[in-house]
Amino acid sequence: MRPLAPAGRYLPDEAATLAFGRELAELLSAAEGYNRDAIVYLQGGLGAGKTTLVRGILRAMGFVGPVKSPTYTLLEPYDELLVFHFDLYRIADSRELDFIGIDDLLAAQAIKLIEWPERGAPRLPPPDLSLSLRVQGDGRHVEVQV
Ligand code: ADP
Ligand code: MG
Repeated sequence: MRPLAPAGRYLPDEAATLAFGRELAELLSAAEGYNRDAIVYLQGGLGAGKTTLVRGILRAMGFVGPVKSPTYTLLEPYDELLVFHFDLYRIADSRELDFIGIDDLLAAQAIKLIEWPERGAPRLPPPDLSLSLRVQGDGRHVEVQV
């Protein structure tokens, strides 16, 4: 699989966001891809579609349960899939990340999907892949930075 090129794309509806998540899952899981331990930043305001994208990735990996933003717990681990889903919206100070053992989590062989990464700076390393979502018309625009 070829790596994702830096590009913008319009996602007209939720199904398009889920389908894009499926593409990402393939990329993140491919042997020539990101080695299954990528750090992925998901940027964009409330309602931009970040969690929907995570749901699309997890569905493609075979997860059938509910996928919600772990806003209060900061982290939802999907241990069987080796995926960590972070939502740092509520942290007031990046030192709170030490309480969840952020360094060990980041060092683990797992894909890390991180909503609101800017709130975790400077405790987070730079991403392997960064996606930025915003509302555009009835849909969403996603910008890929590699
Ligand atoms: P975030 O995690 O960024 O706050 P969510 O993933 O919870 O956002 O999505 C917020 C809403 O946007 C949900 O109702 C979801 O169905 C909707 N949504 C997601 N992608 C799209 C899209 N491409 N077009 C229209 N609505 C979308
Ligand atoms: Mg969310």
